[in-house]
Amino acid sequence: MADRYLSLTRTAPGRFLTRRIGLPQPAELIRRSDRHPRLTGGLLHLTAGRTDLGLAPVLARTGLGADETGHPAAVVLDATGVRDVDTLAEVHAALHPVVRSVTASGRVVVLGAPLDAADHHQAAAQQALEGFTRSLGKEIGRGRTVNLVRLTDADAAESTLRFLLSPGSAYLDGQVIEVGPGEVTAPADWNRPLTGRTALVTGAARGIGAAVAETLAGQGARVVVLDVPQAEQDARELAERLGGSALALDITAADAGERLAGVLPDGLDLLIHNAGITRDRRLVNMSADRWSSVLDVNLAGVLRTTDALLAAGTVNRGGRIVATASIAGIAGNAGQTNYAASKAGIIGLVRSLAPRALAEHGVTVNAVAPGFIETRMTAAVPLLIREAGRRMNSLAQGGLPADVAETTAWLAHPASGTVNGQIVRVCGQSLLGA
Ligand code: NAD
Repeated sequence: MADRYLSLTRTAPGRFLTRRIGLPQPAELIRRSDRHPRLTGGLLHLTAGRTDLGLAPVLARTGLGADETGHPAAVVLDATGVRDVDTLAEVHAALHPVVRSVTASGRVVVLGAPLDAADHHQAAAQQALEGFTRSLGKEIGRGRTVNLVRLTDADAAESTLRFLLSPGSAYLDGQVIEVGPGEVTAPADWNRPLTGRTALVTGAARGIGAAVAETLAGQGARVVVLDVPQAEQDARELAERLGGSALALDITAADAGERLAGVLPDGLDLLIHNAGITRDRRLVNMSADRWSSVLDVNLAGVLRTTDALLAAGTVNRGGRIVATASIAGIAGNAGQTNYAASKAGIIGLVRSLAPRALAEHGVTVNAVAPGFIETRMTAAVPLLIREAGRRMNSLAQGGLPADVAETTAWLAHPASGTVNGQIVRVCGQSLLGA
C-alpha cells in the first residue's frame, strides 16, 4: 500500500502545508541502485582519544575519497580510544563542528571499543557512545543516519564499514553492531561477493523474502526460493527470473529439514529464515490455534530446520544463518503476544546458537529485526496503527523490503564472518523498541 503522506510531502503545496502545521517531513532516502552504487561525496575521518586502529587503508578501500568540499557524505569517528569522561569530550569536539555539513542521506559512523570489564571508567565512556549515537540519530534529520560499531580490528570490520558507508544501509539507524576478531574471507569481486554460494530463502515468493532472494542473486548467489505450495506459481516465476530454483514446502512440516537436506546434496551456504505469519488478537481473545500457528511458523519451524540442517552437515563451513526477528519481539506490541513471543524467541536462538555454531560448524548466526516495512503484511494493519508505524521512527517513513535484503546480504557476505550473534534492527530507528 502506497505511503500517501510521503507522496504528499514530495509536492510543493503538500510540503508547504505539512510544514506549516508542524507535521513530520520524511526525507527522500537514497538507496542503492545503478544510479547510486555508492554515496555521492567524500569521507571525513576523525578521531577521539588515542587510537592505533589502522583504519585509513580500510576506509580508502570503500571507494569514497577524502572529502575536500567541506560537505562530506560520510563521517567516520574513531572513538575506540575514548577511555574516560575527558576523552569523551573529544567526541563532542570532533563532531560538533561538522554535523551540520554532512550531506542529505549521509552517514555518521562512530567506532567504539568493547567495554573493558576491569576498567569502569573506560566502560562508562564507551557505553556513553551508545546514548550519544542514538540521540544524534534522532536529531540529525535529512535522511542522515548514525550508527555505532564496536571493534578491535579494522580489517575484521571491512564488510561492515563498506555496508554502513553505502546507500544499502539507508534505513539502518541508531544501531550498535559488534564486530569480533575472527577470520575474514575477502571476496574476489566486492560487487558480486556471493558468487559460487547457494542460498535458501524461506517465504521468498513475495514481500521481504522475494527482495532478499533478488538481492542475493544480484550479488552472485544461486538462490532456492522456498514458499508454501499455495505460493508455488509466484515462487517459480521469481526463481526463473533469478536463474535459481523454486521449492514448494511448508516449513512447519515435521520432515522439512530432512527434505531440504535431501534436495541440497552439495550443501548450502546461506540459510535465510524469512517465512513468517501474524495472527493478531489480544491475549483474552486469542485461541490456542492462533497462538500455535504463529509460534510454529516463526519459531519452532526455524529451530527444527536449523537443527536438522546443521546436524546433517548441510550448512557448509563459512556458511551464514540469518533469522528474522522483529522490533515487536523487542518492544512488544498490543495484539501480538504470539508474534512478539515468536520473534523474541528468535533473538534467544541467535544469541545462544551463534558462538557454538561458529565454533563447531564455522557458521555465523545473526538476525535482522525489521521495523515497519512496506509489504502486504503491513498493508493489512489498521490505518491509524499503520500511519503510526510509518512515522514513529527517526526517518519518519516505512522501510522497503530492499532495506532488509541489503542488511541480509551484508550478514551473508564472505567477509562478515566476524559478525556473529547480532540482532540488527532495520527500522529507521523506530521509537518502538529503540
Ligand atoms: P509476507 O506475508 O509478505 O510474506 C511472508 C511469506 O512467507 C509469504 O510468501 C508466505 O507464503 C511465506 N510463508 C508463510 N508461512 C510459511 C510456511 N509455513 N512455510 C513456508 N513459507 C511460508 O511477509 P513480509 O512482510 O515479507 O515478512 C517477512 C518476514 O519479516 C516475516 O518473518 C515477518 O514476520 C518479518 N517482519 C516483517 C515486518 C514488516 O513490516 N513487513 C516487520 C517485522 C518483521
